[in-house]
Amino acid sequence: MRERTNRHAWRACVGQLTVGSNPTPSAMDDRSEAPVTDGELRPPSGARSVDDEAAMEAALVEAEAALAHGDVPIGAVVVHGGRVIASRHNERERQQDPTAHAEVLALRNAAAVLGTWRLDECTLVVTLEPCVMCAGALVNARIGRLVYGAADLKAGATASLYNVCADPRLNHNPPVTHGVLAEACAALLTAFFAERRA
Ligand SMILES: [Zn+2]
Repeated sequence: MRERTNRHAWRACVGQLTVGSNPTPSAMDDRSEAPVTDGELRPPSGARSVDDEAAMEAALVEAEAALAHGDVPIGAVVVHGGRVIASRHNERERQQDPTAHAEVLALRNAAAVLGTWRLDECTLVVTLEPCVMCAGALVNARIGRLVYGAADLKAGATASLYNVCADPRLNHNPPVTHGVLAEACAALLTAFFAERRA
């Protein structure tokens, strides 16, 4: 019941946000076919080319999967050659692993799919601004680009508290796009914490 409620909450937001942005039928199809791999490796074949919004919608679907095991609903996908090659969600509670953030898990899957730790041709798309650990992992992966949805004013490390991806002292500064479907991403988190407090 909780999942259904939240799904409607963010879908409603997605609907509002895409008004006027001319969503195409193919984009809508991509949303309905958004992958939820739940940890399985996803080979780079068969999927359609995705833009930032379509990738974020896939990340939102992935984020919702975290609710099933009581984890904070954060989802991440890795896009390579216009295709989603990895899709994970936060599993900190599920695995009792402080490093099991959606971004880290998605980077690991993507590296396994491509057979290389260097992900400079990939874009990581995540529903919430990455933390210090994940921003560091993105730099270490030489990620090609970062896209995130909602800002994390308490722990964000790519704009809010720190700007790891733009620090000229580091050897890699990936471009960052933020605010993609931000309201939908934030709504999912807000609903989760409101329900937990209740
Ligand atoms: Zn993190």
